[in-house]
Amino acid sequence: MKKLIVANWKMNPLSVSEAVKLTKKEDIKGAVIAPPFVFLESVEKVLKQAELGAQDIFWEEKGAYTGEISAAMLKNLKVKYVIIGHSERRCLGETDEIINKKLTATIKAGLTPILCVGEPLNIRKKGLLSAKTFIKNQLLKNLKGINLKSLNSKFSILNSRFIVAYEPVWAISTGTTGIPAKPEDAVEMHKFIKDLLATRYSLLAKVLYGGSVNSKNAESFLKNPEIDGALVGGASLKPEEFKKIVKIAEKYNDE
Ligand code: PEP
Repeated sequence: MKKLIVANWKMNPLSVSEAVKLTKKEDIKGAVIAPPFVFLESVEKVLKQAELGAQDIFWEEKGAYTGEISAAMLKNLKVKYVIIGHSERRCLGETDEIINKKLTATIKAGLTPILCVGEPLNIRKKGLLSAKTFIKNQLLKNLKGINLKSLNSKFSILNSRFIVAYEPVWAISTGTTGIPAKPEDAVEMHKFIKDLLATRYSLLAKVLYGGSVNSKNAESFLKNPEIDGALVGGASLKPEEFKKIVKIAEKYNDE
């Protein structure tokens, strides 16, 4: 399995020139760069090795939806991956039903979703079992009614077109604790997510870990075969840090 390191720049940087500069430094194989929508075109023009991702999507194709961006628009900009249901968007009121519609549109358009799931601190404090129940509920609601068979018929686990990012909300660097999950807990959760998707939907998914990943702790996550990569926020704005993380991931790619 080839590990994937996704840079979620969030609402950074502030200008096209800064975005282009950052892209040139982070343009390495195995990386996906997800800039704000307004920089997608400029970032795509300079990318040679990394792939392009978007941070969100809207479910309708076109029309009277002020401020929204459709799958067709993203495809025209050569976007391949779409982050859906990030906890920072869920916090702003994005519901499981909305995420379900976004996921449906993404898959229908042939884009690869990176579906973010993760439990808040109050749930995690009750133990790993409660966290698993929470994640299961998110996944079942987010995947409700979606035809996933098309994904499986064409793709194997090696180039799986369905990606889940397990991001415990409390572990995100700007979140409640900002302390990464214990790698062994992340491994257990990744196994749980993969088993659930395989048994319930016959779906082979890649599962990335997200939450305060940096060059110092990346290896403790990425060395595990259950962890197929990382979704990186804060450290993706520091090119040297980000490149180190991608290099660490490369060591654990199996052919
Ligand atoms: C994120 O917000 O997706 C994330 C993982 O952020 P950070 O790496 O800063 O914790």
